[in-house]
Amino acid sequence: MCPVNSKLSAKEKARLLAESLGPKLVRDLAMAEFTSYQTGGKAAFFYPASEAKEVGQAINAARRYEIPLFLLGGGTNILVSDKGFDGLVVRVTVKGIERIESNQVRCGAGEQLEDLVDFATANGLTGIEFAAGIVGSVGGAVYGNAGAYGGEVGRIVSQMEVVKSDGVIGFVGAEFGQFAYRDSAFKRNDAVLIRADFQLEPGDPELIRKRVDEIIETREEKLPYEHPSAGCFFKNIPDDSQPHGKLAAGKLLEEIGAKGMTVGGATVSDRHANIIVNTGGATSKDIRELADKLKVKVYDKFGIMLEEEVIQVGEI
Ligand SMILES: Cc1cc2nc3c(=O)[nH]c(=O)nc-3n(C[C@H](O)[C@H](O)[C@H](O)COP(=O)(O)OP(=O)(O)OC[C@H]3O[C@@H](n4cnc5c(N)ncnc54)[C@H](O)[C@@H]3O)c2cc1C
Repeated sequence: MCPVNSKLSAKEKARLLAESLGPKLVRDLAMAEFTSYQTGGKAAFFYPASEAKEVGQAINAARRYEIPLFLLGGGTNILVSDKGFDGLVVRVTVKGIERIESNQVRCGAGEQLEDLVDFATANGLTGIEFAAGIVGSVGGAVYGNAGAYGGEVGRIVSQMEVVKSDGVIGFVGAEFGQFAYRDSAFKRNDAVLIRADFQLEPGDPELIRKRVDEIIETREEKLPYEHPSAGCFFKNIPDDSQPHGKLAAGKLLEEIGAKGMTVGGATVSDRHANIIVNTGGATSKDIRELADKLKVKVYDKFGIMLEEEVIQVGEI
């Protein structure tokens, strides 16, 4: 759909957007409430979309009135500007988890990944235990190909329902995702995940539960869940000489003495050198500045420019 008129005033755009999306559209909503960092300013417009049709309508309206668009899942992997987002934030809240064939589970993008793990566990299905304890939505997990303990979400996706960037809704195979380490085609093609089917296998319910519990226990020991964060800030570095083909960014950060480094209310966790936590009152600017310092130090010592896993929303 073509933009109607790039000379529309901000007021006019707001009116037209409200007309297109109806009463669920909210103005000036604080994003800090929707991000695990608990930082960030207001979204000019906020719209919860619980079905594909609503996502399509929001995409089309944003394009038509030339309003910047950001898709929000659980907000656990983003850093939103303290100035907020001068555009439309669409929160994908599509619900539902069901067994569609003997070993396949269909899950709405707005479900928590942890609830999908619980569903599989309760149904004696194995293959997704690795995701136990990964916070956030299924949509965000597919977008970033979330993973841990040798597993990745993209490897167990069999089919997806998506809204493509032109607003068209349809089913696509897993190959559409082009999944790679913390990467997928969703990062480039502006498609929105509505539902995903996961191919799991029948397993011993007791063993599945034991593995899930073990993973959660290990994560709780290693990760600073007591403070707001977005998990690992930087991606690991591809390196064939390392186990799993990756050099842990946390290892390099340990070696530059990152743990405890602080800017304002942002500190590198003393439990995990690749996690920047909000110890209270941090702004996104504090977090941004600390991340930049870490990058410079790692580059100066190792000649490696760390790539960020956390996604920045708006200018900081
Ligand atoms: C304590 C902690 C531990 C963590 N541990 C891990 C870990 O072990 N492994 C790991 O991989 N991650 C980890 N993370 C990061 C985070 O949990 C994952 O990246 C998660 O998958 C993000 O999901 P989300 O719904 O919160 O996404 P959001 O933060 O809301 O969004 C992330 C990106 O996904 C996009 N997106 C969201 N929904 C959709 C959709 N429906 N369609 C298309 N795009 C969409 C957004 O536009 C955004 O660009 C951790 C985070 C925390 C706070």
